[in-house]
Amino acid sequence: MKFVLIGCPGAGKGTQAKKLSKHYDIAHISTGDLLRDQIARKTELGVEISKIMEEGGLVSDEIVARMLKGRIQEADCKNGYILDGYPRNVPQAQGLEDIVGKLDKVICIDVEDSKIIDRMTGRRGCPKCGSMYHVRYNPPKIEGVCDNCGEKLIQRKDDNEETVKNRLDVYHKTTAPVIDFYKEKGLLATIVGSGEIEDIFSDIVKALEE
Ligand code: AMP
Repeated sequence: MKFVLIGCPGAGKGTQAKKLSKHYDIAHISTGDLLRDQIARKTELGVEISKIMEEGGLVSDEIVARMLKGRIQEADCKNGYILDGYPRNVPQAQGLEDIVGKLDKVICIDVEDSKIIDRMTGRRGCPKCGSMYHVRYNPPKIEGVCDNCGEKLIQRKDDNEETVKNRLDVYHKTTAPVIDFYKEKGLLATIVGSGEIEDIFSDIVKALEE
């Protein structure tokens, strides 16, 4: 099974992808995570892309496609995978099936912009186990500390208000046309992403199994 999760930054793609990856025993491929890993390891590529990511711009198609091609060769991808954050523009969508073969579905998680700034600026994550929190809607038991592993929580550098606004802008101008691209191909299912995490999860599973 291979499918794409699309939606604006903060729509909940990462949260749902983690749950879906467990449910279907398939890999979760987040291009944002792959790129952040390069920055954390201070590779040559990491140094090259860090400013673009801090400002909320898009990394070049060539770089991201190359990373994706490498990632899908890994053993955990043999049953399939969920693409989270790819494709991000129409050229990436046009080239995707040449890289991964036929897609089963494209799920769009739809959330109004007005909810996004609040969701993202309050978002905190654990750098060790990947657990995600929100300072108001899903706070950890001890402020700033991961419930799961005790690590100090961090805020992503691009989760500040100014960058989030820029990322939303990039999404509407560049990524939203990808939704029409997949609608025309008959692959798109749109899910309302503003309710409870579990309800959104079951709506996605239903759409995938239709
Ligand atoms: P995300 O974790 O999906 O919100 O992605 C964080 C950042 O990584 C984005 O703002 C972009 O700078 C970069 N990025 C992630 N995926 C892509 C992609 N498919 N194409 C270009 N840039 C990407």
